[in-house]
Amino acid sequence: MGYISKSFKHLFGYRVARPGKEEQSEELRAIYEAKKGTLSKSDLEKVHIEHKQPYGGKWLKRRWLTLIAVNLLFVVSFYFDIQLLEGALTASRFVGFHMADLNSALQVILAYKVMVLNLFIGTVTVFLLWVLLGGRTFCSWACPYHLLAEWAEYLHLWLAKRKIVSDHSFNRKVRTVFYLLFVVLALVTGYTVFETLSPTGILSRALIYGPGLALLWVLALLAFEVFYSRRAWCRYVCPIGMTYGVVGVISPLRVTYNAEACHHEGDCRKVCLVPHVLDLTIRGGASQVHEDVGADCTRCGLCVDVCPTDSLKYEFKGLSKLV
Ligand code: SF4
Ligand code: SF4
Repeated sequence: MGYISKSFKHLFGYRVARPGKEEQSEELRAIYEAKKGTLSKSDLEKVHIEHKQPYGGKWLKRRWLTLIAVNLLFVVSFYFDIQLLEGALTASRFVGFHMADLNSALQVILAYKVMVLNLFIGTVTVFLLWVLLGGRTFCSWACPYHLLAEWAEYLHLWLAKRKIVSDHSFNRKVRTVFYLLFVVLALVTGYTVFETLSPTGILSRALIYGPGLALLWVLALLAFEVFYSRRAWCRYVCPIGMTYGVVGVISPLRVTYNAEACHHEGDCRKVCLVPHVLDLTIRGGASQVHEDVGADCTRCGLCVDVCPTDSLKYEFKGLSKLV
C-alpha cells in the first residue's frame, strides 16, 4: 500500500492489512528469510542493555527543550511586551506575521462563515510551516498538553506495572467521529465549541494570561489518562492531531524504517503514542526494505531513541540526495 493511502487509513482509524508476500520486494523477503532463527533471546537482551539510555534519549531532550522554549516565548513576549510572539498557540503574530492554528482557523471559518484576510494569511503561513516541519510535529514539539500527557503516561505505566491500574483502549475510529462532531457543532451553533474544550488552547492561554477554572478540565483529562486510558485525549479525541496529521501526509520530514537490522522485538511500539504506525516493524509487516512511517506519526523521536538497532531514523525527503 502506498504512503498516502496508508497514512489516511491510519488517520481515520482503519487497520492497514499486513502486506501479502506478493506485495513484498524480493530483497525484503530475502532479509526476512536470512534472519529466521538467527536471533536468540540472549542476543536481543544484550543489544537491548547496551542501548539503554536511563535519562532519556537525545531526541526526547531536544524535543522537551523546544516545546518549553516555544511556549515560554509566548509568555516572555507578553510579560515584557516585546512583540516577538504575541497571542497564544491558537492565534498569534510572530514578528508581526499572522499565524493561525489550522484547527482553530477551521473552527472559526465554520462557526462565523467568514474568511478575513489576516486569517487567510495566518492559515496559509502555518500550513506551509507545518508541511515543512512534519505535520503532527506540532503535537510532540509544540503542544503543551502533549508534555503533561507524557508525564501522566509515565505515572500510568508505573501504576500499571504494579497492577494498580490497567489501560482501557477504544476503537481508533472514534477520533474521526469526534472530528466530524466538532465540525458540525461549529457549523450549527456558530460557536467554536472545540476551542472551549481544547486542553492545548486552555494551557497555552493559562501560561500566558494566568490560570483559570478551565484548568480543572485539563486536570480531569489527565486523571482519566492516568487511571483509565493511556493517552486517551490525543489518541481518541483531539481533532488538532488529525488536522496536522493530514498536513503531514505531504510533508518531506518523516521517520523512516530500515528492515535490514531490525530485531522485530517491538521496543518502538511500546513507547509510541500511535503504535499502529509502527506495524511495519513487526516481522512481515513491511513491503519494502526502506519504508516511511505513516503521517499519523508525531515525529516525536521516541522510537528513534529507543530502537537498539538504529532501524528508525528521521529523514527529510530529497535532502539526502542534495547533500
Ligand atoms: S493530539 Fe491534540 S492535545 Fe494531543 S498533542 Fe496533538 S494537539 Fe496536543
Ligand atoms: S513512530 Fe516514532 S516518532 Fe512517530 S509517533 Fe511513534 S514513537 Fe514518535
